[in-house]
Amino acid sequence: MSADLRIAGARLWDSLCESAQFGAIPGTERGMCRLTLSDEDAAVRRWFVAACEDIGMTVSFDRLGTIRARREGTEPGLAPIAIGSHLDTQPTGGRFDGILGVLAGLEVVRTLHDAGIVTRHPIEVIDWTNEEGARFAPAMVSSGVFAGVFSLDYALGQVDRDGVTLGQALERSGFAGQTDPADHPMAAHFELHIEQGPVLENEGLEIGVVGGVQGIRWYDVVVKGQTCHAGTTPMALRRDALHSAARLAVAIDAIGRSDPGASLSTIGLFQAYPGSRNTAPGEVRLTVDLRHPEVAGLDRMEAALQADIATLEGDLGVAIAVTPVWSSPPVTFDPGVLNAIAGATQRLGYSHRTMLSGAGHDSVYTARVAPTGMIFIPCENGISHNIAENITPAQAERGANVLLQAVLDYDRHNA
Ligand SMILES: [Zn+2]
Repeated sequence: MSADLRIAGARLWDSLCESAQFGAIPGTERGMCRLTLSDEDAAVRRWFVAACEDIGMTVSFDRLGTIRARREGTEPGLAPIAIGSHLDTQPTGGRFDGILGVLAGLEVVRTLHDAGIVTRHPIEVIDWTNEEGARFAPAMVSSGVFAGVFSLDYALGQVDRDGVTLGQALERSGFAGQTDPADHPMAAHFELHIEQGPVLENEGLEIGVVGGVQGIRWYDVVVKGQTCHAGTTPMALRRDALHSAARLAVAIDAIGRSDPGASLSTIGLFQAYPGSRNTAPGEVRLTVDLRHPEVAGLDRMEAALQADIATLEGDLGVAIAVTPVWSSPPVTFDPGVLNAIAGATQRLGYSHRTMLSGAGHDSVYTARVAPTGMIFIPCENGISHNIAENITPAQAERGANVLLQAVLDYDRHNA
């Protein structure tokens, strides 16, 4: 009976460990550097393709190198149920962020293959190109093109810090395909991912049923004052960009604390120029990341940022320019997919809660064009985008079992 079917936890764990040989950071226990379309990424892609072909799947690439490994279903007219995530990593990342979602998809198909079960829908396991955005901005670019958020030419033209375009890196990797990324049917998209935060672990829970993703807005901020001599310029006559930026940083922190449990604010980059010990900086550049589950909340935070900037400009005689660089509206996932995930979790007897994702994922974009849902498992100390990122084999196994049973349930009950 397919309701009793379980994935092979040891095989999934072996795959996770085996895939980590491609891009492992020497001298670290689990650290990974597998930037998108690097030699290491191309190597893990070849490994993944071979593993999929081993169990009779048909593998194709689109013009952004998105890998789709397909297992046919019994009803030819149905669009595929996709299980997708990403195999690329941050420069000092771990071996589970994204990778778990792809390799759990492979494990689901291996399990069906061994049991001789054929689903009604085709199943496609997807490796979305450049999810991380670490080598080429923006993040989640191929799922974005798939969903019509970015144009194909825009994505192919993005440049890394060495001046290489994504299109050139793709050609070099050998994974440039012929088909239009946006021209691909999808019945549903399931993504299993590590939480990348501490909530599940803190609450001692095994599974997160992810109802959606909070909204994100990014800004570049430049504070301009006047560079001056540290020894000759009285304090009252200074227009110190760093002092102003520091006041702004405190204000931005307060914006993040303004709606506890919902609002978050981060300054990830903060650079003072010209950068000399005995010169008061005339310019500071910083980045701002605002997050909230609701558009109204994001609007309030953005208005507060603008008001704080106006106040500081008036008080301190500096000019502060804010440029929006990216925004991702809040996402609510599909009730049907979430029902399948929640039902599977309950039948499997795993402790769980519903939650929002704090991070962006490919599912944010697939949700625009196909019913989508996500499954979270806890990760150690909530750490991710870090070489210390870690999960246990049992956590991976539970997540993949939920994925398997949720996909089987969705396959039975949806056209
Ligand atoms: Zn990820």
